[in-house]
Amino acid sequence: MQDATIAVDIEKVTKNYGSFTALSGVSLDIRDNEFFTLLGPSGCGKTTLLRSIAGFEEISDGAIRLYGEDIAGLPPHQRPVNTVFQQYALFPHMTVAQNVLFGLQRLRKPKDEAQARCAEVLELVQLSSFAARYPNQLSGGQQQRVALARALAPKPKLLLLDEPLSALDLKLRQAVRVELKQIQKETGITFIFVTHDQEEALTMSDRIAVMSAGEVQQVGTPRDVYEAPRNRFVADFIGETNLLDVTVTSVTGDQALCVLPGGREITCPAAAVVDPGPGHLSVRPERMTLTAPTDALLSGRVENHVYLGTDMQVMVRLEDDEVLTLRVQNSDAVAIPAIGSEVGIALEAGAARLLAD
Ligand code: ATP
Repeated sequence: MQDATIAVDIEKVTKNYGSFTALSGVSLDIRDNEFFTLLGPSGCGKTTLLRSIAGFEEISDGAIRLYGEDIAGLPPHQRPVNTVFQQYALFPHMTVAQNVLFGLQRLRKPKDEAQARCAEVLELVQLSSFAARYPNQLSGGQQQRVALARALAPKPKLLLLDEPLSALDLKLRQAVRVELKQIQKETGITFIFVTHDQEEALTMSDRIAVMSAGEVQQVGTPRDVYEAPRNRFVADFIGETNLLDVTVTSVTGDQALCVLPGGREITCPAAAVVDPGPGHLSVRPERMTLTAPTDALLSGRVENHVYLGTDMQVMVRLEDDEVLTLRVQNSDAVAIPAIGSEVGIALEAGAARLLAD
């Protein structure tokens, strides 16, 4: 018996295009009612995985189960799945309502029932008063919401969204993000969202799978992947981080003793099994503070400042020539040391994490 809370069970899925492997042994459990994001750089296999779930691609190996049922061989239109693509092609000669009704056609519902459902989803995406308009009379964000309404209308169990916000400008994208997340929670439909935008993934998702080169690097909540990246790829791809060269002298359980540049030692959590020897600590810029140089854990010279409005970015060159970037809140109360001055750096508790390569 499958766990009823698992919507999509992806087991060791491999997809080859000729001799090229686009997905290599990908395993994921996506839970019912979850906003789940596939995040990774261009070409890492996100779309291929989404298309495999939708049934537009045949996988080379492994299995995909929807609510416990193996869907191999089930054509796309028989899967309880709908997709919103990057290019959300609306029919230009149809009104908003006709576009949404089109999404209901294959259910062959009585006309009044279809009309009622159309009105319901247009209300959900806050476009009730736009029902009679044509797509070219709508803004990009409104068109995007029509595409979403059309995909939601047949009440799919699973909605797949392939970079649906990428055509929108930044302000609109930020507004639609919030709406999309609200709609997902209101409808209780499981969303699988594809993006290469880490900020988008962090702000909307219940959980994120970080992918690179056809493999899943880490699965976790936004907080997990940001604060406890497993390896260098995840630390570097999600947000900004400093990768500090250290020497690991000993590892006990999940704690590692590391020698920092300058010779001081710290104990910090290790993200995976790590052997003694050269290693890398991930330290987020906002988890370090500037101190006096004497007795500091790390010390160096301020190399540059960048004004970012609420924050300042401060670059400090350490004795071993590595440059660390700190984020310091802008405030009249805190003076930022001048370029060229000697400073110390303190790490907040739990700020440093030893990464797997
Ligand atoms: P993007 O963000 O650019 O859309 P992605 O992570 O979604 O990237 P995919 O579209 O899944 O990446 O492609 C993964 C890899 O598979 C890429 O290297 C791509 O060139 C390759 N690929 C995709 N479709 C085919 C195909 N039909 N034939 C050959 N190679 C393909």
